[in-house]
Amino acid sequence: MSDELFLKIVNREIPADIVFQDDRVTAFRDINPQAPTHILIIPNKLIPSVNEVSEEDEAVLGHLLVVARNIARQEGIAESGYRLLINCGDHGGQEVYHLHMHLFGGRPLGRMIERV
Ligand code: AMP
Repeated sequence: MSDELFLKIVNREIPADIVFQDDRVTAFRDINPQAPTHILIIPNKLIPSVNEVSEEDEAVLGHLLVVARNIARQEGIAESGYRLLINCGDHGGQEVYHLHMHLFGGRPLGRMIERV
């Protein structure tokens, strides 16, 4: 999948169900939800993956967590609980190389990862 895809969502060049946006991050509903709440929270600037984060990204990465907390409250899942997940690279299952945090909730999510 194109690295530019999520930049196009940030810039509102392609449609997405954006639930929050400010000058640093954008949050939108995943197109293929794996849970009743499944939202992606991304930095507006393109950082391909966790492998490419730098010290200057610390503020925006911390902001992702604050926004995740706020959205969990908005979605009514703060009390029942939720999962935040960042995939990195091939073994991590990353498909879109624009760093993103998944926010899953709205049902019991089971084990952290599947046993193989
Ligand atoms: P990952 O496997 O962590 O890279 O996750 C990529 C996620 O992006 C998947 O859950 C996809 O369903 C989601 N996705 C791909 N294209 C779109 C899109 N246009 N709008 C919203 N979510 C998308």
